[in-house]
Amino acid sequence: MRRVFEVNGEAFDVIVVGGGIIGCGVARDAALRGFKVALVEKGDFGSGTTAGSTRIVHGGLRYLERLDIRLVRLDLRERETLLRIAPHLVKPLEFLIPFFGPQRAAALKLRAGLALYDVLSFDKSLPSRRWLTPAEARAADPSLDRPDVTGAAAYHDARVDCAERLALENVLDAEQHGARAFSYCEALSVTPDAGGSGMMAVCVRDVLGGQDATLRAEAIVNATGAWADPVATRLTGRRAGAIRTTKGIHLVCRPMTGRALVLFSEVDRRLMFAIPRAGLTWIGTTDTDYAGDPSDARASRPDVEYLLRSVRHAFPSIRREDVLFTTAGVRALVRSGGSESAVSRMHRIIDGEPLGPPGFVTILGGKITGYRAIAEEVMDVVCRRFRSPRRSVTAERALPGAVPVRDRPSSADTRLWSHLAGLYGTRAAEVVALAESTPAWGAPLSPAYPDIGAQVVYGVRREHCQRLDDFIRRRTLLGVSTDRGAQAVPAAAALMAEELAWSPAYQAAEVAAALHPPGSDLDSLD
Ligand SMILES: Cc1cc2nc3c(=O)[nH]c(=O)nc-3n(C[C@H](O)[C@H](O)[C@H](O)COP(=O)(O)OP(=O)(O)OC[C@H]3O[C@@H](n4cnc5c(N)ncnc54)[C@H](O)[C@@H]3O)c2cc1C
Repeated sequence: MRRVFEVNGEAFDVIVVGGGIIGCGVARDAALRGFKVALVEKGDFGSGTTAGSTRIVHGGLRYLERLDIRLVRLDLRERETLLRIAPHLVKPLEFLIPFFGPQRAAALKLRAGLALYDVLSFDKSLPSRRWLTPAEARAADPSLDRPDVTGAAAYHDARVDCAERLALENVLDAEQHGARAFSYCEALSVTPDAGGSGMMAVCVRDVLGGQDATLRAEAIVNATGAWADPVATRLTGRRAGAIRTTKGIHLVCRPMTGRALVLFSEVDRRLMFAIPRAGLTWIGTTDTDYAGDPSDARASRPDVEYLLRSVRHAFPSIRREDVLFTTAGVRALVRSGGSESAVSRMHRIIDGEPLGPPGFVTILGGKITGYRAIAEEVMDVVCRRFRSPRRSVTAERALPGAVPVRDRPSSADTRLWSHLAGLYGTRAAEVVALAESTPAWGAPLSPAYPDIGAQVVYGVRREHCQRLDDFIRRRTLLGVSTDRGAQAVPAAAALMAEELAWSPAYQAAEVAAALHPPGSDLDSLD
């Protein structure tokens, strides 16, 4: 595992602070343009808001309601780009919008909305909208097989079930193009470089190892999302206040539906989703102002009650006991007044004042869907500063797991291969090669899941896994399965301990942390 002190004192063109989807995208864009780039993330890549999202790649019907046309068009274009450059991670998903009882006015509004959605995605590869008769709607899913279902609208967006892996693949591609990327590495301060080079010096701390290091760069990108204000203040001493942070949660429930549904809250008519994922149903989300540290965001009892009441018309039997666990994330929205849900999701990029000195570039807002385009825009700003004509190539180049390789290895059975390909894309061949090299690594981590030991070893050697949680929650879908990966924890911990030379005490602490992720159990609700 490379540690940041190995690059102590080194000069870079660009240092990216924050390894969420957007920071990882910026690192990739910068590296592919040929810049020397370092990326520092205080936790694991993709462990911030990216991990707390609904994980859909969409223009956003909700934003269309508010006529945020520019945002919707940008994200519909990017949806298509991601389907092209990361087809192993970003997959088409059809949503049904069921009508319960007579809904003439709502149906008319939807017809107009979905028609506009199709117009704005004129260059799409996905099918266009369609309308289901009552009989077709009832037949579409057992959850809709009831007399009050009077039809449904259907439209396509896309899903990214493992958004953290999308972030990671940007890191891996950046590294393949010369970037240095460090997880568990926190940026502490930014000062003018003492050598009078005109560069900025960033002091960073290796969170697991405890050492500090100083990196220098001409441009620093603050891609810390919901942390952007406090990080700007802490790094540069400027008073920030540029973002508004709102919390969103999901209920992860026993299976409620086999189809992705758009529902309108019974409480306040807000648009929400019920999405089948890893054998369970995700219901969300909420949108409430949040003032605390984004790392501490948790579902509260009122959040859970609100979502249960919101979807009771669709799932009349839903109870609190159906909720297996919750997720929470904090949005960083460009500051503006009005209700939380009315604030635009459009991003903004600020170079220098008021958040830092010139060359300190802060990203405010944004979505997973538009991350690549945002990263391109950020690097265009940096290029203007460098007076460099280098152009972005990230829309044309496949992410590492989408780069074609030779045929799949003969030793992988079809079920295992399809499971691995769904996570690693064509890189699954490398996982299989590891399993072939040491047959014990070919064994499943537990009879409960298809995941095998070779994935753990691969995670440590090739995918920046430093903690057990990194593997369980962000390299696989184990962490969002019914038992949250608990049955895989002992075997995965043993393999990581061997790879990383953990002491028995350290291993035990990692196991305890992986088995009890903070604040997602219903018992711990405030
Ligand atoms: C409930 C919810 C649902 C959502 N659903 C969707 C959706 O379905 N589709 C969609 O497109 N978007 C969705 N979004 C929006 C999307 O999740 C975010 O816009 C996106 O993940 C933001 O990425 P980011 O990289 O800016 O932030 P983050 O992922 O939060 O990354 C910022 C990183 O900075 C790191 N950091 C902070 N301080 C420091 C420091 N000092 N040094 C180093 N690192 C630091 C953090 O650890 C963090 O990992 C949703 C958001 C929420 C909250």
